Amino acid sequence: MTTTLAYAAQSASSLVGPFTIERREPGPDDVQIEIQYCGVCHSDLHTVRNEWKNTLYPSVPGHEIVGRVSAVGSKVNRFKVGDMAGVGCMVDSCQRCASCGEGLEQYCENGFTGTYNGPVFGGENTYGGYSSRIVVKQKFVLRITHTENLAAVAPLLCAGITTYSPLRQWGVQKGQTVGVVGLGGLGHMAVKIAAAMGANVVLFTTSPGKAEDAKRLGAAEVVVSKDQGAMAARQNSLDFIINTVAAPHDLNPFLALLKRDCTMTLVGAPDRPHPSPDVFGLIFKRRRLGGSLIGGIRETQEMLDFCAEHGIVSDIEMIAMKDINTAYERILRSDVKYRFVIDMSTLQA
Ligand SMILES: [Zn+2]
Ligand SMILES: [Zn+2]
Repeated sequence: MTTTLAYAAQSASSLVGPFTIERREPGPDDVQIEIQYCGVCHSDLHTVRNEWKNTLYPSVPGHEIVGRVSAVGSKVNRFKVGDMAGVGCMVDSCQRCASCGEGLEQYCENGFTGTYNGPVFGGENTYGGYSSRIVVKQKFVLRITHTENLAAVAPLLCAGITTYSPLRQWGVQKGQTVGVVGLGGLGHMAVKIAAAMGANVVLFTTSPGKAEDAKRLGAAEVVVSKDQGAMAARQNSLDFIINTVAAPHDLNPFLALLKRDCTMTLVGAPDRPHPSPDVFGLIFKRRRLGGSLIGGIRETQEMLDFCAEHGIVSDIEMIAMKDINTAYERILRSDVKYRFVIDMSTLQA
């Protein structure tokens, strides 16, 4: 074991603060990474405050990890010391079930192991990226092909794949009109990626002040979702919608935007349910409401390569580790454009 500096929450009511954890020595199939940057996801905040009622303490969050490989096991053939590497939301899965067999580890029928907070169906705690080092099975380590702006690559490991995967799953193509609901950490990635796929992106927001930024990020059009006239003008016109809003809200006005046979996919995780959508809005146009969770490891690599090729990174604000609690408060006020990333060189005991 190696003693590793980290930042942890000790209970639902405590701040995140300095802590030391033990990391395993790299086994034959393991990659050890010195963490340089870690993105701050809203899930980190939900977890440290036990808002999903499943938190194991001490809780060391962080699942948007970029760093440099510092050791590899004897069987590791895809990484060598000195390579840049990434780790996202998962560090293991059963590797036996049908979903794992299809490379869809995020839907592992026996539950994947989260990079932090352990297996989804319960088990031993795992410690995430708010730490100086992590040891991960080769299979769950991603290659980073971006050559610059590596801090801004970190959020691709969760926010990027969460939006890329449904855009691919529902076959978004050049020339289609794609709606993105919400312009936060997820939404700003959805706009960039869908635009890079050649879609005509329409951003839906409650904040008129976000229009200019949405266009800068690649949206062709911005609709203020509180403007009923503007919403009515867009009815039956979208080929696909990715809804990134995590707060419970009425889904009906958005479902009404879809063409016949088209889908709106939810990727935000509200702490209370959305009001149930109206059935008539679905059956009269054979519309579909879907959901999607991150992406498999193979698809995460595909997303990273796609983003590197198209020059896509997250828009970030870099913070020091000690400022994490302030960053959480700012996330709650939506006061971030669009993702905080921790400079892990600032991690001190
Ligand atoms: Zn996340
Ligand atoms: Zn599995």
